[in-house]
Amino acid sequence: MNALLINYEFCSGCHACEVACKVENDLPVGQFGIKILQDGPRELENGKWEYNHLPMPTSLCDGCAKRVEEGRLPKCVHHCQAGVMNFGPVEEMAKIAATMKKCALFTIEA
Ligand code: SF4
Ligand code: SF4
Repeated sequence: MNALLINYEFCSGCHACEVACKVENDLPVGQFGIKILQDGPRELENGKWEYNHLPMPTSLCDGCAKRVEEGRLPKCVHHCQAGVMNFGPVEEMAKIAATMKKCALFTIEA
């Protein structure tokens, strides 16, 4: 099983992955294969600020099965200029995830 690993500590919330996915899958207005969720900005009790962007694949995401079959990366991963998206076998992604501080691992149903 493959997975998308997102190191959201360094996600800028630029929406490039969201747009790339919409173009790749020819999705109409209001439909998304991946959606950027936003938490914050919010002040914490310790005076620090919480502000996160987390791209979340939706049920329309097929992990770019056709591109992957052709040996290419998923479109969203290819277009993330911050380089915070990884894709590959879930076991491999889990090992990388263990080295990260703020990340999310999404399994892709084949
Ligand atoms: S893997 Fe492909 S279908 Fe899934 S979110 Fe990324 S671009 Fe969209
Ligand atoms: S393209 Fe990369 S940096 Fe931009 S919102 Fe998506 S995951 Fe975050």
